[in-house]
Amino acid sequence: MDAMDSSHSQPTATSDPAAPPRPPTGLRAMVVEDEAPLAKLIGSYLERDGFETAITGDGAGAVTLARQVDPDVVVLDLGLPGLDGVEVCRQLRTFSDAYVVMLTARTEEIDTLIGLSVGADDYMSKPFSPRELMARIQAMLRRPRAGIAAPRPADSTTTTAADLIHRVGDLTLDVDGREVTVDGRPVALTRTEFDILAALARDPGVVLTRAQLIEAVWGPSWAGDAHLVDVHVGHLRRKLGDDATRGRYVRTVRGVGYKMGAGQ
Ligand code: CA
Repeated sequence: MDAMDSSHSQPTATSDPAAPPRPPTGLRAMVVEDEAPLAKLIGSYLERDGFETAITGDGAGAVTLARQVDPDVVVLDLGLPGLDGVEVCRQLRTFSDAYVVMLTARTEEIDTLIGLSVGADDYMSKPFSPRELMARIQAMLRRPRAGIAAPRPADSTTTTAADLIHRVGDLTLDVDGREVTVDGRPVALTRTEFDILAALARDPGVVLTRAQLIEAVWGPSWAGDAHLVDVHVGHLRRKLGDDATRGRYVRTVRGVGYKMGAGQ
């Protein structure tokens, strides 16, 4: 325990001096937050964790900046001047599969946001601990199937390319290349949607509960609402041209969870 843990994370513009900076990771982060001291604080945490970090306080500018930066991680405030966070996230999703954590002013907003199918991967309500935010981001980056960062040792030969291609009916899922096609046509999935599908495809006969999917996709430290799984599965099915009653690719197992469909 150090001083930071008992400070209730009062936003300050300086990073925690007790923690040594980590070496650059080659990952890029973008902070979109119009409260400048908070933006700076989040930015300093990201930089200390080795992210090359860009900060903006403006919604419309954020979309432009994201095209330039091509971020791996975006911390996105909901209430922004210009475009709000919902619209920024929607526009971002047309060209980026960055991991998006959306910040909200009120806990109650999270349910509404989830219902809006914004395309964020995670949500935090203010005030939050920057450490908790970083823990969630790091957990996300440790996800074994997460493509963006998962540092892959050059001599790692535990899996062959063939193990990483799943075929289910007309659907092909290339885990390594993070590509999904249906009937030969590429399907643009968010990172979270992709990881859910990959988790199900890994053991096609096995039903995964929502809790198991959360652990597989968000990591064991994630303490969010299991309802988020259903929302992401809903988006996933829509993009795959699947539906809840048929479940060609993602089948609902009532009262239990989800499993891979048989492709027909
Ligand atoms: Ca704001």
